Amino acid sequence: MLGFRLGINYEDLLGHRGLSHSLVFAIILSLVVTFLAFRQLLPRWTRLVLFSYFFAVTASHGILDAMTDGGLGVAFFAPFDDTRYFFPFRPIKVSPIGLSFFSARGIDVLWSEFFWVCIPAAIIAGAVLCCRRIGAFARQYREPNNT
Ligand SMILES: [Zn+2]
Repeated sequence: MLGFRLGINYEDLLGHRGLSHSLVFAIILSLVVTFLAFRQLLPRWTRLVLFSYFFAVTASHGILDAMTDGGLGVAFFAPFDDTRYFFPFRPIKVSPIGLSFFSARGIDVLWSEFFWVCIPAAIIAGAVLCCRRIGAFARQYREPNNT
């Protein structure tokens, strides 16, 4: 919305789903956050782990946008190539800019995002938590008892 007010067109490099959704942007943002926001690391959290995490989080936005059924696509390779891409599988309904979510279309969009984004994310988070619990349980019985 701010870009539109500043005269930046949707299809421009700085337009919606342009440079800010590119892999280069995800790399730069992840490096900045990893090195500036985390001067001291927690145990087991290396800079590579942090960078990988922030890269996955940032890049996933463009990936999910490329799975929507509207817009012009995502410029994954900007600023080197401003071609906009969609994935062949596009089940997520796009939210029109300025959409009122208390309309039938708004509820349809929210339901689509809940089904295709929130449920898979919850399943992945649950699987990761289960793996961590199983790993902690296994370590507890593998390590010698110090009591
Ligand atoms: Zn987006």
